[in-house]
Amino acid sequence: MRLILLGPPGAGKGTQSGRLTQKYDIPQLSTGDMLRAAVAAQTPIGLKAKAVMDAGALVSDDIVIGIVAERIDEADAKKGFILDGFPRTVAQAEALNKMLRSKNMDLNSVIELKVDEAALLHRIQTRADETLKAGGTVRADDNPDAFKIRLEAYKAQTAPVSNYYAEKGALKTVDGMAPIEEVSLAIDKLLES
Ligand code: AMP
Repeated sequence: MRLILLGPPGAGKGTQSGRLTQKYDIPQLSTGDMLRAAVAAQTPIGLKAKAVMDAGALVSDDIVIGIVAERIDEADAKKGFILDGFPRTVAQAEALNKMLRSKNMDLNSVIELKVDEAALLHRIQTRADETLKAGGTVRADDNPDAFKIRLEAYKAQTAPVSNYYAEKGALKTVDGMAPIEEVSLAIDKLLES
């Protein structure tokens, strides 16, 4: 199973990916998580990416494509993976296409979580509050200023990725405003069909 989950920040991609990794026993490849790990470890990539990420803007295509290319070559990704937060630009989608073709791999599904923009800021705020309550550290970009920039980046650079897959006839959409269990059911149905 090779799957892409698309949708704006706060749409629920992380929640659904986490569930699907268990169901299909495949890894969740979240470029956001990989970049945050690089920032925490202060690797050269992390040092380059930190300020861009904190501001809510997109890290350069070259960096992100390089990270994904290395990651999908790891043993646990051989039987499949869920891409969460990648591709985020049409250039990334094209690079992914090339990468997969060179490995004779296909995508099974591209699923977009459609959400109401007005609800997103509230969801991000809730995520920050719940993280704090659980004693965790709130993401540096889960604040209203960075969130606005993330949403703008999504509209300008990532929304065209949906069109890219729609034009290939590969895009399926799910109502991401429904309760989590309903979103899960809708995704499961799509993957089983
Ligand atoms: P996320 O956890 O997916 O919300 O990503 C957090 C941040 O990491 C984004 O706001 C970007 O700065 C960076 N990032 C994650 N994935 C990508 C990507 N595919 N392309 C560019 N930047 C990314």
